[in-house]
Amino acid sequence: LEPAYQFMIRTRTPGGVVTPAQWLALDAIATRHANHSLRITTRQAFQFHGVIKRELKATMQAINASLIDTLAACGDVNRNVQVAANPLLSAAHATLYADAAAVSEHLLPNSRAYYEIWLDEERVAGSGEETEPVYGERYLPRKFKIGFALPPLNDVDVFANDLGLIGVAGDDGSILGYDVSIGGGMGASHGDAETYPRVGSVIGFVPRERLLEVATAVVTTQRDLGNREIRKRARFKYTIDDRGLDAIRAEIERRAGIAFAPPRAGRFEHNGDRFGWTEGDDGRWHLTLQVVAGRIADRPGALHLTGLRAIAAIHRGEFRLTPNQNLVVAGVEPAERARIDALVENHGLDAGLRGSALARGALACVALPTCGLAMAEAERYLPDFSARLDALLDGHGLREVPIVLRISGCPNGCSRPYLAEIALVGKAPGRYNLMLGGDRRGQRLNTLHRENVAEEEILATLDPLLARFAAERGGDEGFGDFLHRTGIVALPPYPTHRVVE
Ligand code: SF4
Repeated sequence: LEPAYQFMIRTRTPGGVVTPAQWLALDAIATRHANHSLRITTRQAFQFHGVIKRELKATMQAINASLIDTLAACGDVNRNVQVAANPLLSAAHATLYADAAAVSEHLLPNSRAYYEIWLDEERVAGSGEETEPVYGERYLPRKFKIGFALPPLNDVDVFANDLGLIGVAGDDGSILGYDVSIGGGMGASHGDAETYPRVGSVIGFVPRERLLEVATAVVTTQRDLGNREIRKRARFKYTIDDRGLDAIRAEIERRAGIAFAPPRAGRFEHNGDRFGWTEGDDGRWHLTLQVVAGRIADRPGALHLTGLRAIAAIHRGEFRLTPNQNLVVAGVEPAERARIDALVENHGLDAGLRGSALARGALACVALPTCGLAMAEAERYLPDFSARLDALLDGHGLREVPIVLRISGCPNGCSRPYLAEIALVGKAPGRYNLMLGGDRRGQRLNTLHRENVAEEEILATLDPLLARFAAERGGDEGFGDFLHRTGIVALPPYPTHRVVE
């Protein structure tokens, strides 16, 4: 008897945009082949969990039939490209999305193996027809991540990406080009100073028409100069720190045949989502719903999977998955709002908005029981932990003060914990490293404050800090900024711990 292997499948959905028809197809796949839930990732993709081995091929084929694929959603290649999802960007979003989709397509591997293995196409390997102009014979040393943001909103946490592209808008709102950030990355290993999170370094402005050349130059620079000896040092951030930012910038310029202009993008204000209805500049409306830890499932009193299936059945716009694990019902005609509101209310899809501002903005990676690398709970622990934190916040009158909380089950940092004002990074079951001092703009890394602590000590540590914050806060100062201003937290000892402005 073969063991009952089960798998996770992740989609490739650049910018997290799916049509209602695709939503219904993905919902059917989750119900038929997986564990009756859809999981929104922090990179605007879906994950299906609990796909048993004999269902694997049928599931991949069903995903493909919905005109979505899983190609390069994993592996040492460019991953799902992130795009700012905020509905306030409705005009600019189309441009950012088009550019991101073009970059995503351009950086797909040419190999037909995916189609041969999963989609029963005729085998062509060995025919000599495949070339990989970007990836070459050995692909990249490790995974590679790209994100597109447009100030003042940094909802994609653009500085957490190997390549971040920050839109520069002209006076008429059109996108002129991008400031280029390189070397962001969250992953680290506990107790290993050779590994660390890093925020991206902005190296200059590129006009929009040169975007693909620059993206290719950045990726091939990492392909050729990245560390292939030590896998945990194989991310682009270490290539940059080992060889020097100036040398890497010059190499990218040489390969792309350009000289970067000085950065031009505006200032970021925050990295969260805005919930509720927002009117787009074409008169249509966008509804951002909170999805706790990105998990869409039917639970007693909260039939979220069913509710979103009902919305997809009548919706004529699109859905956008946000990089903060939330969902935008986008492009709703004014006359349709009431019907959607009724479905939201009837299925408890607005329940998440009743928590504190901290709870509404919190992220958690999957962790236990489905991630094989998890050391501690994250997704399943988030509701309990944020409820306990809410009690503290209520006591200090901080319920509506946005504080960025993120939980990861291990130091790989899939929920981008090192950018949070408060983060728990899993060490062992029930124990975490408590990290403090990120900012609300995704531009400063936090610092290890207490190591390997359980919930009681975490709350006992946070309570007096929150009390001081409530008493001494200046204006709308953020919690992380307060911790730095008062000297409670210092910057971490990594080479690049904050974005230079
Ligand atoms: Fe798994 Fe670690 Fe990523 Fe969480 S941070 S999903 S535990 S690899």
